[in-house]
Amino acid sequence: MDSFKLRDWDDSQIIPISALEHYLYCPRQCALIHNEGIFSDNVLTVSGKLEHQRVDEVQCLYEHNARRETSFPVFSHVHGITGIVDVVEFLHDGTIFPVDHKHGKKIVWHQAAVQLCAYTLCLEEMFHVSIHKGAIYHTSSKKRSEVSMTEQLRAKTSKAIIETRNLMASKCLPQPHYGAICKDCSLIHDCMPELDNSVYYKNIYKVNDND
Ligand code: SF4
Repeated sequence: MDSFKLRDWDDSQIIPISALEHYLYCPRQCALIHNEGIFSDNVLTVSGKLEHQRVDEVQCLYEHNARRETSFPVFSHVHGITGIVDVVEFLHDGTIFPVDHKHGKKIVWHQAAVQLCAYTLCLEEMFHVSIHKGAIYHTSSKKRSEVSMTEQLRAKTSKAIIETRNLMASKCLPQPHYGAICKDCSLIHDCMPELDNSVYYKNIYKVNDND
């Protein structure tokens, strides 16, 4: 595999991999959490945390010709990212296979795939291997969906890392865009996206029209 281009990062430049998913969901959500330090739970985040407890404990298990490590910390010096992988499977043939647990009825697959790819980039660098696949484990259906680490997914992940770092460095809070995703966002009461000017003024004009 290609040799890695290592970089020195300031602590402030290191991106938690969870921030990538927040950024891809909504840049404002990412800034509220990572720039403003605001986090609120809703029913989706609480149920997710409860379902997640199984893999929150650090464990090393031997099952089906593989060593399974849970809550496995990873880091990339190349990309300046860090995180904790739910499960990493080390197979007897040397294959390393990351698995990310997801909960809830709605999984946004492209966000989940980018997060899994970011874990993969870290594991490749840490163990000097190429990893071709990982999986997303859906805790409700108890089914795994395999994800191929294509060049396209790797490029998308690198782009998300750069954009997230730029947002975090800027300390800016992007404007809200009130849309369908806001309904499931646990920060809706902190964000108040309904005060997004266009929607706000549209509603004022609607009231005036009815006068
Ligand atoms: S409520 Fe909507 S605009 Fe605000 S952070 Fe959440 S998803 Fe983004």
